[in-house]
Amino acid sequence: MLKFVSQDRETPVKKDPGARRRDFGEIYAKFAHDHAAAQAARCSQCGVPFCQNHCPLGNDIPDWLRLVAEGRLKDAYAISSATNNMPEICGRICPQDRLCEGSCVIEQSGHGTVTIGAVEQYITETAWEQEWVKPLQPQFERGQSVGIIGAGPAGLAAAEELRKLGIQTEVYDRYDRVGGLLLYGIPNFKLEKEIVIRRTQYLEKSGVKFTLDFEVGRDATLNQLRAKHDAVLIATGVYNARALACPGIGNLGVIAALDYLTASNRKGLGDQVLAFENGELNAAAKNVVVVGGGDTAMDCVRTAVRQGAKSVTCLYRRDRANMPGSAREVANAEEEGVIFEWLAAPKAILGAPEKTTGIRIARMELGDADASGRRAPKEIAGADFDLASDLVIKALGFAPEDMPALFGAPDLAVTARGTLRVDPATMETNLPMVFAAGDIVRGASLVVWGIRDGREAARAIAEKLLAAPSIMVAE
Ligand SMILES: Cc1cc2nc3c(=O)[nH]c(=O)nc-3n(C[C@H](O)[C@H](O)[C@H](O)COP(=O)(O)OP(=O)(O)OC[C@H]3O[C@@H](n4cnc5c(N)ncnc54)[C@H](O)[C@@H]3O)c2cc1C
Ligand code: SF4
Repeated sequence: MLKFVSQDRETPVKKDPGARRRDFGEIYAKFAHDHAAAQAARCSQCGVPFCQNHCPLGNDIPDWLRLVAEGRLKDAYAISSATNNMPEICGRICPQDRLCEGSCVIEQSGHGTVTIGAVEQYITETAWEQEWVKPLQPQFERGQSVGIIGAGPAGLAAAEELRKLGIQTEVYDRYDRVGGLLLYGIPNFKLEKEIVIRRTQYLEKSGVKFTLDFEVGRDATLNQLRAKHDAVLIATGVYNARALACPGIGNLGVIAALDYLTASNRKGLGDQVLAFENGELNAAAKNVVVVGGGDTAMDCVRTAVRQGAKSVTCLYRRDRANMPGSAREVANAEEEGVIFEWLAAPKAILGAPEKTTGIRIARMELGDADASGRRAPKEIAGADFDLASDLVIKALGFAPEDMPALFGAPDLAVTARGTLRVDPATMETNLPMVFAAGDIVRGASLVVWGIRDGREAARAIAEKLLAAPSIMVAE
C-alpha cells in the first residue's frame, strides 16, 4: 500500500472519442487485474478514511482496496457487497469526483486520487465472472410481506435487504421492465443494460416477485396495497419534468429529455418506438440544442452525438464552475464534440408551431448569491443571439408528481416541494407502515442515495415486522 508516490493515478482505458461518437457501448474498459491491484495499492490507508465518510453507503473502501492489492478478491467482494446492493453500478455511474474520490486525501497532497469507482466495479465484475454472486437463500421464509412501489435502485435495494431476512417482497412498477431510471433514463454508454438485467435476474432468483405494467393509482390504490401487505414502500422516483416558459415552447421539435432518452434506450433494447422511427425523438442529421446543465442534459447531448446529429450545443445559464452535472461527464461530452454555451438561457423558440428552426438565446452574467447561496444568473440587456436548431431538448430537471392525488391517498403527507414527508430515522411516512425511499423523498438525486434510502427503509420495516409474531410459510 501507500504506493501513491511511485505509482500515478490511472483510470481504465477510455475509448477514443472518434470511436465513441457512433457507439452506444460503455466508454471505459474494465481494469486488468495487475492494473487494478497497482491502483488499489496507491491507497494511503488513512486512520480516518474521508472517502468512506463521503460515500453515502459508508463503503469500507480502504479495506477492499487493501484486499485487491493483496489479490484477495473474494474477500474484497464480501466486504464491498455487504454495504452496497449494486457496487458494479455505483462504480460506473457515481459522480466519484463529488463523493468518495473527491475527498481522497492523497489528492490533497498533490497526487491523483485513488480510482475508487473503477476498483469497485472491477471487484464485482470479477465476482460475477467467478460466480461468487449467488442468489439469496434466506435461512427460513417468513409470512410477512412488503409491497414495494417502484423498481428503481431504491425499491430494488430494499427488496434485496428484506429478502435476506426471508420477508416476502412484491415489487410493482408501471414500466414493462425492472430498473427505473437505470434502464430507461441512463444511457448505455454510461451503464450497459445487461448490467441492470443481470441484477434483476439475480433478484428474481432470490425470490423477489415483480409485477410489471402495474401503475399504482390506476391499477390499485395505495390503500388496496396496504390491505394486501404488512408494509408498503413507496419508491416511485420523480417524473414531473420542470417546464420551460418561452414563446414557441409548444412547437414541434421541442421535446422533453426523458421522452428522448427513454426512446433511445428502448431502441437499444430492441423495442419498436414509433416516435423514434418518425424522427420526432431522433437527433440524426439535426442541429440539436439541449437546455440544462445536469446529468440529464449531459446524457441528452451525448446521445444526440451518437445518433448522428449535425451539431450539438448545450445551453446552461450559469458558468462551468456552477454546473450541477458531473465534471467528468462534461469533459466526456466536450471530447465527443459537444459545444457548450455557458451563461446562456433560452428566450424564444424560433420557427412556426409545426417546425422549429432555431432558438433565441439571452446572454447571462452571474449576480449576487441568492437564498440557496449560489450566484443568481441575470440577463445582459441587448446581448441576445440566435442559433439554428431543428431539435430543442428540455432538460431542466424533475419534480415529484402529486402523490396523494395519484395514489388516491389525500392524507399522505408531502413537503412544500411535493416530496413525501418521512421520519428521517425510519423513512416512515405519516401513514402507519407506509415507508418511502429514493428520489420521491429527496427530490432528483443519485443512484447511490436511492440505494442507501432503500436499505434504511428495509431496516426500519424489518425492525417493525420482526417485532410482531411471524407466521412461517410452508415451502
Ligand atoms: C437521465 C438521467 C441520468 C442520470 N444519471 C445519473 C448518474 O449518472 N449517476 C447517478 O448516480 N444518478 C443519475 N441519475 C439519477 C438517478 O437515476 C436517480 O437518482 C435514481 O434512479 C433514483 O432512484 P429511485 O429508485 O428513487 O427512482 P427511479 O429510478 O426513478 O425508479 C422509480 C420507479 O418507480 C416507477 N413508478 C413511478 N410511479 C409509479 C406508480 N404510480 N406505480 C408503479 N410504479 C411507479 C417508475 O416506473 C420507476 O421504474 C440520473 C437521472 C436521470 C433522469
Ligand atoms: S458507492 Fe459511489 S461514492 Fe461509494 S465508494 Fe462506490 S463509487 Fe464511491
